[in-house]
Amino acid sequence: MERAIANLRRARLLSPAAMLRASSPKLSALLRPSGYFRQKTKTLKSFVRFLYREHCGSLSKLFATPTSVLRDQLLSLRGIGPETADSILLYAGKHPVFVIDAYTRRILERHGLAQPKASYEELRQLFHSALPLDHRLFNEFHALIVHTGKHFCRKQTAICSTCPLRQFLPSDAPLFPTAPEKRSAPSPAAGRQSLVLSS
Ligand code: SF4
Repeated sequence: MERAIANLRRARLLSPAAMLRASSPKLSALLRPSGYFRQKTKTLKSFVRFLYREHCGSLSKLFATPTSVLRDQLLSLRGIGPETADSILLYAGKHPVFVIDAYTRRILERHGLAQPKASYEELRQLFHSALPLDHRLFNEFHALIVHTGKHFCRKQTAICSTCPLRQFLPSDAPLFPTAPEKRSAPSPAAGRQSLVLSS
């Protein structure tokens, strides 16, 4: 994504007005390094048209809209789902909404805090009901979850032994796959966590 943003910056297309004027093929070519570039071009075009239609092209006016109203507006746009809408609201608009992504869901499930089929909204409400509605807190909290998901709670392997969240792992947590080259045979006396957590 960084390369695509650098491309847009070099082409002087990072402003809403410039994006509105730019042709879709040109935007697609610049967005190509980020993957799914055709879909992203359509979403970007849809967003800037909405921005001009509903908010006079002003990001300040856009983000001054009440959170629930703006969230509904974003969700009505092509290519924008709950995670993208909440990311826009939190990171760009500084609205207090928690972003649920694959890292968040994985950590909640592994800690027995969410069912595998829990909906996006159920997980979002879990954070909203447990934490003060503060965009700075949500921003940092989510960034820490992403860091933990990338470096410890990976999809294929959970490196619980050195994870900062290890102390919160329930003793009856299911076994998670550990890195194959580091897996050690459990001793009969070993506790459940050492079965799960050896790295
Ligand atoms: S303690 Fe283990 S299961 Fe929990 S977040 Fe860390 S790596 Fe994931």
